[in-house]
Amino acid sequence: MSTVRDNLMSRPGYSPYCGNMQCKTMPRTTWNGAQFRCFECGWASGFPAEFITEYKTRWGLGG
Ligand SMILES: [Zn+2]
Repeated sequence: MSTVRDNLMSRPGYSPYCGNMQCKTMPRTTWNGAQFRCFECGWASGFPAEFITEYKTRWGLGG
């Protein structure tokens, strides 16, 4: 498991930084209910559905 995924599963409210190298400020992303999205450039993370399901289950999000 990557460090980012590890943090996502263990730290409440943790979110990864924007992954778009062209992004102006590369801020931390925000959870949009399906992926993590950058408010600055619109970049969205591409975590596989399997991981997203684990994440939502871990923090009691959605379904
Ligand atoms: Zn961005």
